Amino acid sequence: MKIGLEIHVALPTKSKLFCSCGMDEAKPNTSICPICMGFPGSKPLLNEEAVRSALGIASALHCEINDRMSFVRKIYFYPDLPKSYQITQLDGSIGIGGYLDTEDGRVRMRRVQIEEDPAKIVREGAFTLLDFNRSGTPLVEIVTEPDIKSEKALWSFLRALRSVLYYLGDDINKELKTDLNISLAETRVEIKNITGIKNLIEAAKFEIERQTEIISENGKIASETRGYNEKRKTTESSREKETQEEYGYIFDPDLAVFSLKGMTHNEPVYISDIALKFEKDYKVNAKTFTELTMFDRRALELIENFKGKYDIKNVVHALERVKKYEKEGISEKNFEEIIKLVAKDIVITGEIIAEVEAGRADAIKHESMTAEELDRLISNFVDKNKDVLKDAEKNKKALNFIIGELSRKGNLNPKDVARRVHDIVAGLSAKKPESDDPAAF
Ligand SMILES: [Zn+2]
Repeated sequence: MKIGLEIHVALPTKSKLFCSCGMDEAKPNTSICPICMGFPGSKPLLNEEAVRSALGIASALHCEINDRMSFVRKIYFYPDLPKSYQITQLDGSIGIGGYLDTEDGRVRMRRVQIEEDPAKIVREGAFTLLDFNRSGTPLVEIVTEPDIKSEKALWSFLRALRSVLYYLGDDINKELKTDLNISLAETRVEIKNITGIKNLIEAAKFEIERQTEIISENGKIASETRGYNEKRKTTESSREKETQEEYGYIFDPDLAVFSLKGMTHNEPVYISDIALKFEKDYKVNAKTFTELTMFDRRALELIENFKGKYDIKNVVHALERVKKYEKEGISEKNFEEIIKLVAKDIVITGEIIAEVEAGRADAIKHESMTAEELDRLISNFVDKNKDVLKDAEKNKKALNFIIGELSRKGNLNPKDVARRVHDIVAGLSAKKPESDDPAAF
């Protein structure tokens, strides 16, 4: 199986790609001018902020940066494009080649290019309406080689890419529009204009099944362009069949050749690399680390800030608890208190976090339950969880599950609970030979 993608990323610039019209969502057709309406004689002027943002993406994807970047006109007639061409890039693209490493291997890039979005077409009953607010907004198109070899690998790639985009700028990541190429045999099928990650995965899933079925019945897969039907979650044959030759690209003489030498951009962050480093240096589980930080800059900052001062495992655990209770906005000072409480084996609950935030961290101690209270709690638990306890004596995981559950329930020190549970389980198994009936356990 070979999957390749053409991903369109909307850049969060203040103004459009070739004019000074704003990007805020306003009433239809209010953020427009002769340039983004494509009036004859209007001249585009390249937005440096968009170039800088695109340069950040191309560099993060390890592309070779084209020092002499240029634009082409992709010529086609459609109502959303009154000037009859879209300004985009081809051989003079900002980035050529490149790659992104994912959990499922390396995916090579073909190129990264800057282009303008056409107007938005809105269909209302018998009418087709056009909103030119979107016309001329900046996009980066990322074209991969067909290196993705499974549905899982597709998912890994999208996650890795979205994380890289997130760390380049919080807004870059909003909504991705993708064209998907899939070939299970020799024939390549393209699915155009898929909006969002969820639909992309669904479309891939459907198409893999569809092609697998055709192959298993010795059928022939047609080389075609298909569309994705969101409602039915299917792909459907569509009539579009322009090839690169049919578009008729020509060099855009309105836009000069740009030198990118010396232009600065945001530096990329690769969470999977950092996670592996933390696993090697501090024995923190790479998967846990990745889950916590992949789309959370603050989490990464908190770990970095406290890693030298406290046991890194306590820092990571404190962060897990804070995120579980959706308290990511906690101040650094209060987060530090949480780390200290974790170090004292106090189970961090939502209430404990609230106490810390109310400035009462010092008052938090282990609730010292009496031995009778603890026994009552445990025997209640034993009654309700006989199935788990049956395994407990030979199954360490089950035992840890019980200890974890009880500690959470009673807000108790896991060490105290562990001691009592071991006693009780030992007592249970000691009694066991008295009866052959497993139900009596
Ligand atoms: Zn404009």
